[in-house]
Amino acid sequence: MCMDHSVVCKCGKNEASFMFKNELMPPETVEALYCPECSGEVPVNTDLMLKDNEWVIHFDMEITELYKGRLPYNKEQLSPELLFDEGYVTWRGFYPGDHLESAKERKKIAKLAKTDPAQYFREIKNWATKRMSRLKKEGWRKAYDG
Ligand SMILES: [Zn+2]
Repeated sequence: MCMDHSVVCKCGKNEASFMFKNELMPPETVEALYCPECSGEVPVNTDLMLKDNEWVIHFDMEITELYKGRLPYNKEQLSPELLFDEGYVTWRGFYPGDHLESAKERKKIAKLAKTDPAQYFREIKNWATKRMSRLKKEGWRKAYDG
């Protein structure tokens, strides 16, 4: 089970949906979130923060220390990168808002499934490929996974 949790950024204009793999880390792990509009003046301390495009996640590393015994391996040093990349505290989807936008895009194509399944499969594959190359080009961290 992955818990979904929305966090509003510091300026309050945007929010992002987070996932917490197996609920090993609590939502309180996210101490603050900065969207592209409010991240500009934030000095990024990579011991506590992770920058993905213009979004900045500020982790409460004291809380992650308290919970790190729950992780399935011993990690001497938890880092924002590890938490994010391993999915313990990460975007729901590839970027903030991804789950909403991709659902909308897929819905358009899904109409085809009833009338022309072959065309539907071609389009959904095409959509997935194009989407990934767009996300890579935009520079989202999770688009480079594996
Ligand atoms: Zn903001």
